[in-house]
Amino acid sequence: MCDAPKDADARRAVKPVICYPNETLPEAPLALYQAARDGAQKVAETLVPARDARCFEVPAGHFVRITSVEGPQVGDLNFWNLHDLSERFYSGKTRALHGTHVTTGERLWSSFPTLRPMATIVADTLGWYGIDEFGGSVHDVIGTRCDPYTSNLLNENQYHYCCHSNLTRALADHMGLSLVEAEPHVHDVLNVFMCTGFTRDTGQYFMKASPVQPGDYLEFFAEIDLLGGLSACPGGDCSAEHSSDVAACHPLLVEVFEPKAGALGEWTQPSANGYDRTHGR
Ligand SMILES: [Zn+2]
Repeated sequence: MCDAPKDADARRAVKPVICYPNETLPEAPLALYQAARDGAQKVAETLVPARDARCFEVPAGHFVRITSVEGPQVGDLNFWNLHDLSERFYSGKTRALHGTHVTTGERLWSSFPTLRPMATIVADTLGWYGIDEFGGSVHDVIGTRCDPYTSNLLNENQYHYCCHSNLTRALADHMGLSLVEAEPHVHDVLNVFMCTGFTRDTGQYFMKASPVQPGDYLEFFAEIDLLGGLSACPGGDCSAEHSSDVAACHPLLVEVFEPKAGALGEWTQPSANGYDRTHGR
């Protein structure tokens, strides 16, 4: 390693600036959503089995709630535009706009070229957690999803119930696709209920036992017609390891709620991003 220059401390002392100040993002109309939610009726539910995944559909203007049942469990969540799988949740840009972990009032943004809110978080019973002494917090957009390729790279094994494979099977079954067709649509997730951060000394991604308990939930308002995929991670509460059958695992409940007719007033779905896509030509 090169020797540090004489002014190293001064260079390190430069104050950071926020990359994407987000004050200009249109604010989510949470009061309107809450009023619509109050009279909403449950119209569908899906129980995601432990170490497996399921897909579910959420029409625009409906609510979808993910609840911990039976025991502490984290979930790996994908969202697609129901009518166009190429528009999908963009974890990296959501992180750049809102930070490493998301909670009530924040949005899940879609991929280019649409870059629009796909879903808005309207309730989070773990919102009290904040950021702990290790720098950990809940519901991250910094992880990817546990997958058999990384597992093979690190452990030379063939484990088939990682969230990546679970989501691939669930999407294939739901859409009538082969595994080969479905796999490229699986993307970096929102880690629902997972408690994660980066170590201060080495900058490594860490996880710790999720504070989630049965009855805790995270709920979204669907801004567009959504196809969701949720995997009940083989890591269980992610207190020790994932990508194996060692951890205690539990199902996750997905429920969809439809507001009363007219409850959303003048609300309309967000349109695609306004950039003209000429890229300087
Ligand atoms: Zn996982």
